[in-house]
Amino acid sequence: MTQSGPVAIVGAGIAGLTAALSFACKGIAVDIVDQRPALTEVGAGLQLSPNATRILDRLELASRLEQVWSEPTSVNLVDGASLRTVASVPSGKFARDRWNAPYGVLHRADLQKILLDAVEANPLCRVHLGIRIEGGAREAISGLLGAKPRLVVGADGVWSRLRNEVQGAGKAIFSGNVAWRFTLGEALAPPALDFTKVTAFLGGGAHLVAYPLQRTRNFNIVAIASGRSTGEVRDVSPAPEGTRDDCIAAFRGWHPQIIEALGKAEAPTLWPLYQVTDGGWNQGDDIILIGDAAHAMMPFAAQGAAMAIEDAFELASFISRDLPLAAYVAHRKARIGKVRARGNFNRFAYHARGPVRLGRDLVLSLRRPERLAADFDWLYGYEPQD
Ligand SMILES: Cc1cc2nc3c(=O)[nH]c(=O)nc-3n(C[C@H](O)[C@H](O)[C@H](O)COP(=O)(O)OP(=O)(O)OC[C@H]3O[C@@H](n4cnc5c(N)ncnc54)[C@H](O)[C@@H]3O)c2cc1C
Repeated sequence: MTQSGPVAIVGAGIAGLTAALSFACKGIAVDIVDQRPALTEVGAGLQLSPNATRILDRLELASRLEQVWSEPTSVNLVDGASLRTVASVPSGKFARDRWNAPYGVLHRADLQKILLDAVEANPLCRVHLGIRIEGGAREAISGLLGAKPRLVVGADGVWSRLRNEVQGAGKAIFSGNVAWRFTLGEALAPPALDFTKVTAFLGGGAHLVAYPLQRTRNFNIVAIASGRSTGEVRDVSPAPEGTRDDCIAAFRGWHPQIIEALGKAEAPTLWPLYQVTDGGWNQGDDIILIGDAAHAMMPFAAQGAAMAIEDAFELASFISRDLPLAAYVAHRKARIGKVRARGNFNRFAYHARGPVRLGRDLVLSLRRPERLAADFDWLYGYEPQD
């Protein structure tokens, strides 16, 4: 693609903002459009694995991120009924040494703000807020910019409108699982929640992940189980009546400390979990979907934002080398396919019951932490094309 002119990005979430910075780093001007009138601080926690933080470091954001995140000493898998530790994958300094990049946990609003500040400070990036793109994205953006964009990037999330403009694109489908998201003050938390670790509590048909948010001294808690869809949810959607009671009911029979944590947690929100099925990501060399718009996935491998960051960075690399979008898509689909498969495996393993659960615990308990960490080399050690 040897066209000139700005790249237009629809959506200023993690995918869109990372893409804007990545293009600017390659000397390509970008216009980024978002429906929200202000990119206010919303959302919950986020785990950023080394494959994502390596890229954020290349975008020169590491020193700011280090001020707001914490680096857990390990990621532990714990039985939700007995609180017995089933497995522990070392993190902290170990992650930096093994994967040459840190594993951080933070409030997603902090990441969003750091990305936005960097985008706004970059003379090659222009941000346009309060503009919702519905149909005919290229025409709508041409009208807005007064010139045809060389490429439109659809970074407009799981409910993407840009997807309608891509032939054979996937569809958002409900997974049958819902996520309840809470925060809980460190001082109120039961001892099972460790402020130095990421802990995934596992049980039949459900799991719950807790990790620290250093800046606010809260735990971020995500509890996932079967549930009904309440349709499209935005960050600002109020939780339906009875949200906390439904969550507690889904975790009936779990250890009393877990139930206590759910009872004390603040501001519950309910997220029906949608995935985008496999399908087309590009319309010729005119439109490309990235992040959740292309491949929203279940949070079982905690990789959705990480994949959005990888997509954004590698897209800028392919475009700056005048490679066709089809080459980018083929390259990224192979990676996303592997990550999705890992998420599906985790879903099966985390929510296992009966003999499968016993087998899982036995296999995990026999593996040394080093061996468990080695299973993540392909994921966390990924070197993006630059
Ligand atoms: C419970 C849960 C826990 C998770 N935990 C993790 C984790 O620990 N680690 C991890 O890596 N990932 C995690 N994820 C996944 C991660 O949150 C998402 O994959 C990621 O935020 C997707 O970013 P995005 O930029 O693609 O989309 P979004 O964040 O949805 O951004 C889309 C943007 O587009 C804008 N927009 C939408 N439509 C339009 C339109 N028509 N016109 C203009 N603008 C529009 C929106 O306003 C928004 O700003 C989790 C997800 C869930 C549900």
